[in-house]
Amino acid sequence: PQGQREPFIWEKSYPPDVSWDIDLPAQSLPAMLDNAVARFASRPCIDFLDKKYTYAEVGALVDRFAAGLQKLGLKKGQKVGLFLPNTPYSVICYFGILKAGGTVVNYNPLYAEREIVHMINDSETDWIVSLDLKVTYDKLARMFGQTRLQKIIVVPMAGVLPFPKNWLFPLAKRKEIATIPSDDKHVWFKDLIANDGRPAPVAIDAVNDVAVLQYTGGTTGAPKGAMLTHFNITANTRQAVTWFHEAVDGEERMLGVLPFFHVFAMTCVMNLSLMKGGEMILLPRFELDQVMQVIDKKKPTQFPAVPTIYTAINNHKDVAKYDLSSIKLCNSGGAPLPVEVKAQFEELSGCKLVEGYGLSESSPIATINPPHANRAGSIGLPVPGTQIRIISLEDRKTELPHGERGEICIIGPQVMKGYWNKAEATAETLDGGMLHTGDVGYFDDDGYIFIVDRIKDMILAGGYNVYPRNVEEAIYQHPGVAECIVLGVPDPYRGQTVKAYIKKREGQDLTKEDIKAFLEDKLSTIEQPKLYEFRDELPKTMIGKLSRKALLDELEANSKKT
Ligand code: AMP
Repeated sequence: PQGQREPFIWEKSYPPDVSWDIDLPAQSLPAMLDNAVARFASRPCIDFLDKKYTYAEVGALVDRFAAGLQKLGLKKGQKVGLFLPNTPYSVICYFGILKAGGTVVNYNPLYAEREIVHMINDSETDWIVSLDLKVTYDKLARMFGQTRLQKIIVVPMAGVLPFPKNWLFPLAKRKEIATIPSDDKHVWFKDLIANDGRPAPVAIDAVNDVAVLQYTGGTTGAPKGAMLTHFNITANTRQAVTWFHEAVDGEERMLGVLPFFHVFAMTCVMNLSLMKGGEMILLPRFELDQVMQVIDKKKPTQFPAVPTIYTAINNHKDVAKYDLSSIKLCNSGGAPLPVEVKAQFEELSGCKLVEGYGLSESSPIATINPPHANRAGSIGLPVPGTQIRIISLEDRKTELPHGERGEICIIGPQVMKGYWNKAEATAETLDGGMLHTGDVGYFDDDGYIFIVDRIKDMILAGGYNVYPRNVEEAIYQHPGVAECIVLGVPDPYRGQTVKAYIKKREGQDLTKEDIKAFLEDKLSTIEQPKLYEFRDELPKTMIGKLSRKALLDELEANSKKT
């Protein structure tokens, strides 16, 4: 396309054994699945708490679900919500909706009711798939009448599929099953799939048809639906596969503990595993002891996760008891991976832990460290077929030279089509196809990218820009620190002042003075936190990222009280 240039990094730090010359066919997601089913039919596709499903079984259930949706009257492009934790249903229903010609809307079942109301109406979700677990179903049932929701497709906890007997245990503390009325607003999964498994073929335009509405941006106003096309997602999966070229087709086992309603797991766990013919070891929620046992017993070879999960494993009191050595490759994303956390996890497991970067609007992967040319602390290089530009924060236009900090912008096949029904927000974010990420970063001399922070998280203290991530990185170097969040709190003199919230490592006796002394030669005076608070737990988002927003909300609520 016009204006493209060869990024310098492609020649300079060309990682060996990786082809940049990537072929990105305009493939739809159902075509990708069909291809995997044909190639790996008898291989295990999913392991859900010891119950295994082959590719052929998953493919057949997808076809039956798709045919059932069509019989129910699904129209091309109709939105169907998924309101599920990770189970085989998540995979089957996702592909079933797409194969029937629908668009998936990913819901986090733990969302507050207010958020669900907004998402149903904004996305125009008429049908939604839910478990019959009381805590999730009851919340959804309250949406009838107050939103446009018309039908709930109920997948039963007891299991139509051969589910393990007591599988609710790891899912939720409250295990009550909801009472589902028998009326035309409810359809049971088992009735829906009672058909010959031959959906009418749907012509999918992979480049233009929206496969998924991925809601994002809750920190700035109401969440918006990023429209990800079939091609966005299959291309991004293929880009990641090219990077992880050491993975062997049909041989890998991928631990799937990140929820599939989040874009990171959707692409990097589910779709990546399917494209490579891997086996997904699914867990419905993150429970540390269970994750350790599953790694020890089922021996996954790949384990994509967010940094807090690696931190939790590093700090597990009995970590030495478990065998983590099956893990060969991990990719961390979604939030900064502290260098110490990376080093410690690699030492414990003997794997390569590489950091990547991306966002909902880019399906999500934009950059990854090539496993064989990794640079700690960096978010890596653009994945094949992607360009990153660093743009001036002032005019949001001028491209900056290497070493200078500016907004990270992405050009590539994975960049969303736009925000659903939000022309203005789309125009602000997509500039001729180039995605403005709202993240600040820079290139080093070899073309590796370093992320500094989000523009909106920058602290303005006494007229200086302070990047909280930089401060956090310095604090993490202290061996007594398990987790930390740094943010700007209002200050009558400086505008904002730097405050650090710290969770100590177990058994550590750490004081504010210790940290202050430790940081003296690591940070400038402006960057050094003036305020400290030690906490037993730090807030996390649903996917497990440390949540600055939760602390900012808390500060705001407290300031209103006083
Ligand atoms: P989401 O759309 O919810 O996946 O959030 C995307 C945001 O997560 C990005 O805009 C970044 O601010 C942040 N993020 C993702 N990966 C990284 C990373 N490796 N390091 C730092 N921040 C990251």
